[in-house]
Amino acid sequence: MDLLNMIKNAGVIGAGGAGFPTHAKLTSKAEYILLNGAECEPLLRVDQQLMAMFADEIIKGLEAAGRYIEAGKAIMGIKGKHKEVIAHMRERISALGLADFMEVKELRDMYPAGDEQVLVHELTQRIVPEASIPLKVGCVVINAETALNIFNAMAGKPVTETYITVAGDIPRRMTLKVPVGVPIRDVIKQSGVENLDDYAVIDGGPMMGPLKTGVDGHVTKKSKGYVVLKKDHFLIRKKSVNLNQARVINRTACEQCRMCTDLCPRYLLGHSIQPHKMMRALSYNIQDIHELQIAQLCCECNACELFSCPANLHPKSANIYFKKKLDEQGIRYQPAQKEYQTRSAREYRLIPSKRLIARIGLSSFDQPAPMTQVEFRPETIEISLRQHIGAPAIPVVNVGEHVQKEQLIGKIPENSLGAAVHASLAGTVAEIKENSIVIRVGSYV
Ligand code: SF4
Ligand code: SF4
Repeated sequence: MDLLNMIKNAGVIGAGGAGFPTHAKLTSKAEYILLNGAECEPLLRVDQQLMAMFADEIIKGLEAAGRYIEAGKAIMGIKGKHKEVIAHMRERISALGLADFMEVKELRDMYPAGDEQVLVHELTQRIVPEASIPLKVGCVVINAETALNIFNAMAGKPVTETYITVAGDIPRRMTLKVPVGVPIRDVIKQSGVENLDDYAVIDGGPMMGPLKTGVDGHVTKKSKGYVVLKKDHFLIRKKSVNLNQARVINRTACEQCRMCTDLCPRYLLGHSIQPHKMMRALSYNIQDIHELQIAQLCCECNACELFSCPANLHPKSANIYFKKKLDEQGIRYQPAQKEYQTRSAREYRLIPSKRLIARIGLSSFDQPAPMTQVEFRPETIEISLRQHIGAPAIPVVNVGEHVQKEQLIGKIPENSLGAAVHASLAGTVAEIKENSIVIRVGSYV
């Protein structure tokens, strides 16, 4: 079986972001394969620990993907502050005889170093064109955990577990290996917070992760972290503002200082995005939607909202507001530029992670979250059929059927983009819902 089919059968998806099926990402040839080991979301500690623990596996997964797409070079991007991880990776790359093909480059400790387009530029000096993808400049980017999952797929092991950091204003910060489908509540319990009434949870990193409405729901292959904070914390208050509220606040208070634009990571790469213009359009009720198409260039990194704006406004929300309007009208941004150059001030306007962490009130929680072994044995698990970009998986099991751990339970629909899903624990299929399969956990191993 070729690598693509192994990856497809194992249900590998991008573990670091939107969950794009990895086999689909590897169908085109590219000059570079890049490993995104930046982990730029504050407090999350998954990738840096996986790279330390599974260096050989990640190297081999990256190598296999790189050879498959006929890349001439594989580059790992790891923040320079992770000195031991970098030294270990370099030593293992050499020991495995891959020094001609693979190298580690040190990334600066800034936000968002892990944004795909920022990463491409930092590692190759190329600029991904507006509204495009890294492949356009000869790059394919995969995350560290995805490379590990590719290695596992080559050994016939499907993706049934994910690594999650539990962090924030909690007694026990840790990183855990969690079976997909486990109730999120069981994971958050590990934090040591007895009563969650006064707390709120961010699903993912504190910058880009959305606020959860409760602790319901189940772990997916994409789950990376839960940040637990008191309800009156700055981040929770800020993330509690809905789009309509943000629109009203934005209309009244923007002083048009341009800081949101001048520090925007995509603007600094030379793209046309200018969030202060979206704020102006809101204030003056500008209706010409075609003028506002640059809103579609926003990657929603939240830097403008949580760091740049001195008035604590919501420029990202202004972008989202216009993005939605454009979508409703079926309008897509058409890039006018052919050549791109970074803004001349970029080097002075990068956002240092430490300052960002202080700005969003997380300095005292910026602590290690060591890998900790916990055995999860919930009564039931619920495995989503929609953990990825593309069509939902189609169930291939029936209610009452016993399933083994790692057994296929959902397949990719014919001729569709999608990802297979597997049972993460053995048990009996208790229910098949529209978008998930519930398994009563048992001992049918
Ligand atoms: S949204 Fe904030 S940063 Fe942007 S122009 Fe207005 S006041 Fe300045
Ligand atoms: S969220 Fe703000 S800073 Fe980030 S890309 Fe969008 S406009 Fe730029």
